[in-house]
Amino acid sequence: MTRQIAVDVAIIGGGTAGCAAALNLAKKGMSVALFEQKTVGSQASGVNFGGVRQHGRDLRELPLSLRSNEIWTDLPRLIGNDCEFVRTGHLKLAFNEAEMAVLEQFADDTRDLKLDIELFGRNALHKRFGWLDKTVFGASLCSSDGQANPRLVAPYFARAARAAGAHIHEHETVTGATKNGADFCLETRSGKSVHSATLLNVAGAWAERIAGWFGDFAPLQPRGPNMQVSEPLPYRLNVSIGAVGGGVYARQIPRGNLIFGGGYGWTDRDKIRARAVVENGREATKRMVTILPWTQDIQVIRTWSGIEGFLPDGIPVIGPSKTTPGLFHAFGFCGHGFQLGPVVGEILAELAMEGRSVISLDNFSIQRFST
Ligand SMILES: Cc1cc2nc3c(=O)[nH]c(=O)nc-3n(C[C@H](O)[C@H](O)[C@H](O)COP(=O)(O)OP(=O)(O)OC[C@H]3O[C@@H](n4cnc5c(N)ncnc54)[C@H](O)[C@@H]3O)c2cc1C
Repeated sequence: MTRQIAVDVAIIGGGTAGCAAALNLAKKGMSVALFEQKTVGSQASGVNFGGVRQHGRDLRELPLSLRSNEIWTDLPRLIGNDCEFVRTGHLKLAFNEAEMAVLEQFADDTRDLKLDIELFGRNALHKRFGWLDKTVFGASLCSSDGQANPRLVAPYFARAARAAGAHIHEHETVTGATKNGADFCLETRSGKSVHSATLLNVAGAWAERIAGWFGDFAPLQPRGPNMQVSEPLPYRLNVSIGAVGGGVYARQIPRGNLIFGGGYGWTDRDKIRARAVVENGREATKRMVTILPWTQDIQVIRTWSGIEGFLPDGIPVIGPSKTTPGLFHAFGFCGHGFQLGPVVGEILAELAMEGRSVISLDNFSIQRFST
């Protein structure tokens, strides 16, 4: 039986970005229906590393990242839970002079932005962070960065959105959408027919297919960062760490478990499945042991991956469709959209209600890609 739903805004995708958009819109009195093919936060938003980092970002993303950083601090008021967000700082490591120069350049480029960046040469670094291997050449610390529990964020945004009046439909795949006259018309797998004036495409690694329904193009590739977690160890790693050029990243939660990643896993978008690749996990573990020698004998208790959308220039698409008024996209976060989720929700609500955002989105236009 077909059921008809009519709303101001329909949202495809129940990750952090979609759930945050639903909350912002519902709080402003818009009628909202969000559709998620699995459960909210079950894909990239719920299985990521948990790094909430401005440090080392593409400079074009920083205005969004700075605003999102403010929202992270405000989560208890906004959604009733801090999602275990702790401002531990993020320490980026350099292994030679050339990598140190990259960190110095970022510190220079962001001097006026109040990121609280502190550069460390070898001696100062090892004096302050005694748990690092002595081969680490230098580092830069961004103390306004932090970490959070990804399992909690999208579900808490969804819960707050529901409380504000949004309709969140889980296990409901949108199988097709068109625009007829002024209205979008969405069809769902269970037979719902949804009409809306505005459509938000926040479908993560699946979003370029939805964009394609409307003739928009983005060369998105799905990939799955390889993740691991160890048994609890004595608590030492009081900052989240990464390395220039990626390769390995790690954080430790107060209970002692060490969460770390590096390399990529296996993904199948059609089956909505991802898993870690053992050999790549082994490589990441070796890299971590060279940085944190005390992790030499750790027991890994779980490995996993998740499906994330990557774009060739390393920054997302956020903004209006090239072809269809009333359609707005936000996808292709290239492995660093967890930190941005809260601000993307705010931006999408502005786009849906006013057609523009207070933060410039010029760099994120889908128009930068041609078919
Ligand atoms: C393993 C891993 C580690 C990461 N680590 C970090 C990190 O430390 N820090 C960081 O900032 N970022 C990290 N990221 C990236 C970050 O998780 C993502 O960029 C971010 O969560 C994307 O959020 P989203 O809401 O756009 O997408 P998603 O969370 O993927 O949500 C999109 C949703 O759309 C749904 N959907 C798709 N098609 C349909 C359809 N047709 N009908 C209904 N629903 C549909 C999907 O099921 C999915 O739940 C990582 C990603 C992964 C996978």
